[in-house]
Amino acid sequence: MFNKILIANRGEIALRVIRACREMGIKSVAVHSTADSDAMHVRMADEAICIGPASSTDSYLSIPAIVSACEITGAEAIHPGYGFLSENANFVRILEDHDITFIGPTSEHIRVMGDKITAKETMRALGVPCVPGSEGGVADFATAQSTARDIGFPVIIKATAGGGGRGMKVAHNAAELEVAFRSARAEAKAAFGNDEVYIEKYLTTPRHIEIQVFGDGKGRAVHLGERDCSLQRRHQKVLEEAPGPTIDAETRARIGKICAEAVARINYIGAGTIEFLYENNEFYFIEMNTRLQVEHPVTEAIFGVDLVREQIRVAAGLPMSLVQDEMEVNGHAIEVRINAEKLPNFSPCPGKVRVFHAPGGLGVRMDSALYGGYSIPPYYDSLIGKLIVHGRDRPEALARLRRALGELIVDGVDTTVPLFHALLDEPDVQSGNYNIHWLEQWLADRFS
Ligand code: ADP
Repeated sequence: MFNKILIANRGEIALRVIRACREMGIKSVAVHSTADSDAMHVRMADEAICIGPASSTDSYLSIPAIVSACEITGAEAIHPGYGFLSENANFVRILEDHDITFIGPTSEHIRVMGDKITAKETMRALGVPCVPGSEGGVADFATAQSTARDIGFPVIIKATAGGGGRGMKVAHNAAELEVAFRSARAEAKAAFGNDEVYIEKYLTTPRHIEIQVFGDGKGRAVHLGERDCSLQRRHQKVLEEAPGPTIDAETRARIGKICAEAVARINYIGAGTIEFLYENNEFYFIEMNTRLQVEHPVTEAIFGVDLVREQIRVAAGLPMSLVQDEMEVNGHAIEVRINAEKLPNFSPCPGKVRVFHAPGGLGVRMDSALYGGYSIPPYYDSLIGKLIVHGRDRPEALARLRRALGELIVDGVDTTVPLFHALLDEPDVQSGNYNIHWLEQWLADRFS
């Protein structure tokens, strides 16, 4: 086992990893920018090292600074958290060359899944169901026309190098196709420096269902069921739950087996998430995330596992302790993402937190790096905490969420907590009757 792990991240996810390290008797090293000297992850780790100025390009994204920090502190492994360098194949290759263990998959797996066309081709070849669409990139408008005719309208044009919901355009009919095709290419070129696009059938009322997988790198893998992350704003998840309100045990076992077998066949190591759109009882692969997800705690809650501990174990060469037959869903868990943002426009709202009080009690988990007197810096993501509740069933989890949100105090900055109070009053949220467009529509009805 490792003696010391460096955490190349900040905020709540850095604390999450530090906690796992401490329970395993492993020393932790925090890295931080000059803007984060007073951050909680710096205080909680065994050691901390400054790696650069406030701008993340020069600190949390600086590969030389992070590799040097490892060498100075003697850390043998790096946990990347999510975001920042967690899906950067170049970073992982450099660590491989420096004999520093990356707690995550190989650079090759990250590269394959990071390109949407190769990811889709790989998954299709492994027997994972995909959205009908073009075979690879679509180079010219004539090909776009014939592809769209073959699959049928509406279609969505997506950037091969895409991410964060950018470079996607929908065409509902042949007349809209040309503008959509040309503007998707222009947006892709501007955002990613690569104008390659591909075409998919546009699903009109899907849910976002993702399967948690975990591999040992030696041909064995398990799945830990699904998370429903359909409540999204601008393609960003806002609330996640497990199990999915519309997924039964037979469906879970069927799609889970397909996903576990797929990653086992490529000798995938560590945690991964296979994301699907789900419509009319069919799953359609959209992308794979080769890292721990923000919403991993809902899976931990219902299966009683520690995914970070398991990541560290397999990275250290120990056998995976997860066994498929022991993976039984226990109750229901819901996570809400609490951002320092002002409603209704969700404008970032950094600043000084005067008072912070975390909710507690049975079935409540608050993952947050806030403390009273802390100043939220303006340079990073606006996520300031995740509230996760676990109950024996969905109604109990919803009641517990309402109760816990009522206990939470974040005084000094605006947060998205009022959004969740309002959502909990909605019959569709109470019954789980929503798809990926529900929240945008609800916000538009209320605020525009
Ligand atoms: P990104 O990497 O930019 O987040 P994804 O491929 O994961 O892109 O898609 C993000 C979101 O865009 C999905 O969660 C869904 O809301 C929407 N989307 C993507 N592909 C389709 C599709 N074929 N039909 C309908 N919606 C889609």
